[in-house]
Amino acid sequence: MSGTAGTGRVDVVVVGGRVAGASTALLLARAGLSVALVERGRRGSDTLSTHALMRAGVLQLSRWGVLDGIAAAGTPAVRRTVFHHADGEDVAVTIRPRSGVDALYAPRRHLLDRLLVEAAEEAGARVLHGVTVTSLHRDATGRVTGVVGRTEGGARLDLAAGLTIGADGIRSRVAEQVGAATTWRGRTASAVLYRYVEDPGADAYEWTYGTGAAAGVIPTNDGASCLFVSTTPARMRRLRRRGVDRAVDDLLEAAGPEAVVRARDLRPVSAVRGWAGVPGFARRSYGPGWALVGDAGYFKDPITSHGITDALRDAELLATEVLAAHGGDVAQEVALARYEATRDRLSRQLFETTERVAAYDWDGPGIRSLLLRLSAAMGEEVEHLEQLAAVRPSA
Ligand SMILES: Cc1cc2nc3c(=O)[nH]c(=O)nc-3n(C[C@H](O)[C@H](O)[C@H](O)COP(=O)(O)OP(=O)(O)OC[C@H]3O[C@@H](n4cnc5c(N)ncnc54)[C@H](O)[C@@H]3O)c2cc1C
Repeated sequence: MSGTAGTGRVDVVVVGGRVAGASTALLLARAGLSVALVERGRRGSDTLSTHALMRAGVLQLSRWGVLDGIAAAGTPAVRRTVFHHADGEDVAVTIRPRSGVDALYAPRRHLLDRLLVEAAEEAGARVLHGVTVTSLHRDATGRVTGVVGRTEGGARLDLAAGLTIGADGIRSRVAEQVGAATTWRGRTASAVLYRYVEDPGADAYEWTYGTGAAAGVIPTNDGASCLFVSTTPARMRRLRRRGVDRAVDDLLEAAGPEAVVRARDLRPVSAVRGWAGVPGFARRSYGPGWALVGDAGYFKDPITSHGITDALRDAELLATEVLAAHGGDVAQEVALARYEATRDRLSRQLFETTERVAAYDWDGPGIRSLLLRLSAAMGEEVEHLEQLAAVRPSA
């Protein structure tokens, strides 16, 4: 089949309909812009994650009215975080109520991403699933002026837009098409194995840091937790030669006795899935007629479980600046440059610390000090978002 999947003109076209893209579309559509959200996958599909949201992300979902749907779907409220360390020290942190947030959540992605897409749609965004963006339109000056896409059946989408936003993940087609330069390049990476396990009643994020390996148990939907183990890509490749189940057991042991004991009685309810590891990066995230958000613009290793929270934060930072430009307060490129500068300022310490955690060469005091640095950086991020909310309470 061929033909047309759509044409027209919008203020903003967003490529990629998961956390970063759906949130950006939601905020822009709520502010009255005409928005199209183009996603190559199916509506409500799942994706790789260990799901843990940090406070800043929960705070935003609460403000945007999306958290109620997450809680209503039975996603467990997480009231504690527990860190187990190789030298025997355990640190338990209770989630303090702040800005209306008294618990963290780790929703499955088929739930979180779907709720965000539905909220964007309710706000007036035109949502197109099953359409892959293949190239960009440009005017005579080289400015990006929209997208060309295709459905699986070969129908063509042609959309003109005042701004094209790439929220299309680490292998972003938009970034590739505009030639977005890499501005930060990481050197370390985690390889991760994870599976869902039966774990009804769990109410804590649990992390264990051992000898060159980490493990975690993250309570998610349907009475299950996501159990993961991680290490360097080289060690993971070696361990996987003896089979994936054996690799999980070996890494639980390396992570420490608490991980072994906690995992022992958890009945698997899914197969083991793997992530081979990709070093973090940041890309130049704006140019004439285009911007990048979420993993497309800035990706860091999943060991610190901050990618979804980053994506939600950056959606709001970007939407704030896009609206400033749309209102005529400032030129689009100046506003977009401010977006990138704020994102980078809030991300630098998180990125550098994550790099060090993903090196897997720490000892007990070393990892504790890295976790404290992360906590300080996350506090700064929450403060920034609270200030944004004070300026634009309706967002
Ligand atoms: C193993 C692992 C564990 C993780 N655990 C956590 C965690 O516990 N907590 C956390 O906060 N983060 C975690 N993350 C990170 C988190 O998953 C990402 O940071 C987050 O998904 C980024 O969202 P995004 O919307 O930017 O991109 P993505 O989720 O990658 O979405 C991009 C979307 O764009 C679509 N797309 C791509 N190209 C095109 C195209 N050409 N046309 C149309 N659509 C397109 C894709 O289909 C996809 O749906 C983890 C990541 C990994 C790999």
